[in-house]
Amino acid sequence: MNIQKKVLVTGGAGFLGSHLCERLLKEGHDVLCVDNFFTSSKDNILHLLDNPYFEMMRHDITFPLYVEVDEIFNMASPASPIHYQFDPVQTTKTNVHGAINMLGLAKRLKAKIFQASTSEVYGDPEIHPQPESYWGNVNCIGLRACYDEAKRCAETLFFDYYRQHGVRIKVARIFNTYGPHMEFNDGRVVSNFIIQALRGQPITIYGDGSQTRSFCYVDDLIEGIIRFMNSSDDFTGPVNMGNPAEFSILELAEKIVSLTGSSSEIVFRALPSDDPKQRRPDIRLAKANLRWEPEIPLKEGLKHTIAYFDALMTKNRTDKNG
Ligand code: NAD
Ligand code: UDP
Ligand code: UDP
Repeated sequence: MNIQKKVLVTGGAGFLGSHLCERLLKEGHDVLCVDNFFTSSKDNILHLLDNPYFEMMRHDITFPLYVEVDEIFNMASPASPIHYQFDPVQTTKTNVHGAINMLGLAKRLKAKIFQASTSEVYGDPEIHPQPESYWGNVNCIGLRACYDEAKRCAETLFFDYYRQHGVRIKVARIFNTYGPHMEFNDGRVVSNFIIQALRGQPITIYGDGSQTRSFCYVDDLIEGIIRFMNSSDDFTGPVNMGNPAEFSILELAEKIVSLTGSSSEIVFRALPSDDPKQRRPDIRLAKANLRWEPEIPLKEGLKHTIAYFDALMTKNRTDKNG
């Protein structure tokens, strides 16, 4: 039987956090969602606010937090390049000060703590696909460093709290994930292309579109996170979580144009600095330890995501026209 736990989800109003809150509630847990709405709003969690087992607290995790919980999922951080580069110092503070505060909380409570780390710790990788043993290739003074280096420092903190204070940690390196509840304007490639295609606007490829990414549907990722959190304490990670099917950005654009039946043309724009050329997770560790691997192919996941944005855009039009 499932034992009800009090679970804290930081960044719980965001894309991944809101799916995680839903899943934890479904499993019968008592969920405390902490978010400062830096990159989100209440929209993703509106449907949970009436649930007596769901509680929302507006709070910035760069400041200390004194609450009583059994488990912590530390998801708070801007995640899309335009969001994390909007206020780079705050991005580092959230990931470093925020991690210290959440680890201090976990230490006091003897609570297990999950960290949403990222494939960005590998930077612009010279080894492909990326195994967890790869130390990465990050430009520590570049425009992406506020995110990449802060997430690397957070991993350091997690492993030092584990070694020094015996905190039970779970560190997952999440690769590009997509699906419903992605923020409308967060600039990530899947949401950008879908919104552009649905509006019949040009699809903006940065660079020549030959750079690759591996896209994981959100339901697959949440399943992986839950299995990881429930696995034995000695499996701390870091563990890669993502879908190993790799696509070029041009292939992604063509798929989205075809699935939406859009008349959008594809246009090419300047490539942002330090944009990784290739990315694909080696997920053998997750397969072996968690018996987990993604099941939802890109085409199917894109269909769900397109339907979500289509409905949202229709609703926004209706709301506007009264
Ligand atoms: P998101 O931007 O949709 O959600 C992040 C949430 O954190 C937002 O609700 C935001 O308001 C909140 N937040 C930001 N700073 C905060 C602070 N100081 N205090 C409290 N709340 C704060 O992003 P997401 O895609 O849901 O990402 C969630 C986590 O997963 C992030 O830590 C991100 O780095 C990590 N991640 C995501 C992906 C992905 O593809 N989605 C990939 C790798 C890692
Ligand atoms: N902290 C928190 N909630 C708690 C316990 C600690 O936010 O319930 C914060 C607190 O701000 C502290 C940080 O976590 O500075 C790190 O805690 P730790 O116990 O490791 O260090 P110390 O208290 O000695 O600074
Ligand atoms: N990208 C693009 N057009 C867009 C948004 C992004 O071509 O409108 C590219 C971006 O340059 C990168 C890839 O798509 O090569 C993935 O970008 P995203 O911001 O989604 O994630 P990340 O770079 O962090 O993997």
